[in-house]
Amino acid sequence: MKEGRVVKSTEIPGPEEMQAINRYTRRAYAPEEVYAFSLVLCDNEVDRDWERFPVESLKALKELFLGKTCIFDHECKSANQTARIYQTRLEHKPGRTTQTGEELVQLTARAYLPRTKGNGETIELIESGILKEVSVSCSVKRRVCSVCGKEECKHQKGREYGGAVAHCLLLEPTDAYECSFVAVPAQRGAGVVKRFQQEEVEKLWEKPEDVLLTKAQIEGIGRRFRQLAEKARWGEEYRRELEREVFKYSAVVQPDMPRAVMEAAVKGMGIAELAQMEKTYRQMAQKILPLTPQLKPREETREKGENREFRI
Ligand SMILES: [Zn+2]
Repeated sequence: MKEGRVVKSTEIPGPEEMQAINRYTRRAYAPEEVYAFSLVLCDNEVDRDWERFPVESLKALKELFLGKTCIFDHECKSANQTARIYQTRLEHKPGRTTQTGEELVQLTARAYLPRTKGNGETIELIESGILKEVSVSCSVKRRVCSVCGKEECKHQKGREYGGAVAHCLLLEPTDAYECSFVAVPAQRGAGVVKRFQQEEVEKLWEKPEDVLLTKAQIEGIGRRFRQLAEKARWGEEYRRELEREVFKYSAVVQPDMPRAVMEAAVKGMGIAELAQMEKTYRQMAQKILPLTPQLKPREETREKGENREFRI
């Protein structure tokens, strides 16, 4: 499941677009009878889940999303509020590069909605920018590691290996499902919170009377904060585990170093530095005492897969 967004919604469909739209309608619609808008469904950037669609996958998704529907999941829900995707294309964004150094490529779509009485409010919500986030879902046949190309490996997604951040490549899409509009996306809300702060809160400061949150938005933000609090707890747990390991190996590698000095040293470290230190110390300790039983549990824990969720 990925997050997409509406990019612009004002264009009146031209004759070619009407032809594309009318492929999906029972009778021929006139341009004034439909409302068309554009969406960015996904791109080739590494996302917040440390996953990425290579351009090849986007090409396949381009075909799969054609004809799929977008459903509206907002509060004023009524029957049959769906838009249909009638056109998809890959848009290259010269000058904009992804984390991996490639040119940014977006899979964009055009979707239409008949201008019926019942759809008036929905159209208004899109126009006003309230409905702009969509959850896009699809399935892929293979997910491989960007570092080694294997489906199962020990590379931690989000960690750096040789200057590149390990992530998961989503390959061979097999199906695309309907996308749904959400006032506030239920997931991946680091972005929700960020967007909320940047756009909504900035507006709030400028013109306080212009901002009104819906119950669904407040609930969405509350839900997201609870998720983040949970993740923060995992993160702290992971940090404590790393610190314990560093102290343990440090006692082997540099037995004369007082514990208090090590404690002070790790205190100011970021999580990536600490992880690096743990790895280096572990390797050094294993060279000194390769078969020491005290050094074993760590590996056993790993194999059992315990605490895996703490790893970043
Ligand atoms: Zn790997």
